[in-house]
Amino acid sequence: MSLPVSAWLGALTCCLAGTLTAAQSDSPLLPQEERVPGGIALVSIDGAALQPPVRAGASAAPRVTFEGQRVLVLRREGKWLAVVGIPLSQAPGHALLRVDDGSAAASAIGFEVSDKQYTVQRLTVPPRQVNLSARDLARYHREQPRLHQDYGTFSENMPDTLRLLQPVPGIRSDSYGSRRVFNNEARNPHSGMDIPAPVGTPVQAAADGRVLDTGNFFFNGNTVILDHGGGFLTMYCHLSATGVKAGEHVRAGQTIGRVGATGRVTGPHLHFGVALNGAFVDPALLLPPPGDSGPHDGPG
Ligand code: ZN
Repeated sequence: MSLPVSAWLGALTCCLAGTLTAAQSDSPLLPQEERVPGGIALVSIDGAALQPPVRAGASAAPRVTFEGQRVLVLRREGKWLAVVGIPLSQAPGHALLRVDDGSAAASAIGFEVSDKQYTVQRLTVPPRQVNLSARDLARYHREQPRLHQDYGTFSENMPDTLRLLQPVPGIRSDSYGSRRVFNNEARNPHSGMDIPAPVGTPVQAAADGRVLDTGNFFFNGNTVILDHGGGFLTMYCHLSATGVKAGEHVRAGQTIGRVGATGRVTGPHLHFGVALNGAFVDPALLLPPPGDSGPHDGPG
């Protein structure tokens, strides 16, 4: 249920959200903040800072949207905190969250998005994966609505943590956000993290969640999408096998599939995607620092 943009834009003024302290950003619960396209903004939803102000002491979480998508809102040290995924396509500059506390009037709160220069990555794949045949194109167009519906999922249960396990051991590529040129033709930027690993390597759920969807897709290959609640999703692509079914609940660390080379790939690897409010953000912001991959690194 959403109002036409003109119905609420007219009533809005905006203000800069307060910056969080370092202590809050370091909490194990929260991701790292980076207010850039492809990053995450942690925006304090302080009633008094909103224009117009929302009701003081409202106990229900305010409903926050960004570009029409519901945003994850957590209770943090007595205040509401919006965890906003910033799409790679976001223009640098001023961005607005719409805040609704249940009363008739909507408020807004603004934040600034800085520019970030991502690299260009040139890849060579079979020509049929760049210039699709009519049949493959029809397949791609059939798959898109289902995937977009998946990406826009917002479950009301909130995640316990926004910190993730690395789903397979190995060296993480830093190609998130890179502008991709396949066989000399520009395509969409890379919206996830690639971790090369041998075919068959177990892929573990990065956090507790529910299996939202599984399937075989033209570009993504065999795929599992997990719903962690509040619009927070993780996606695992190019699998050789999937080991779970939609609707199943999984625990962090549980094997959900095996590394493979299905879909559009240059070799076996896991493509790991993380979405907040429908935007695929840099997974590195939610993972332990490189080299600290937890259980995988223990002696023996
Ligand atoms: Zn990838």
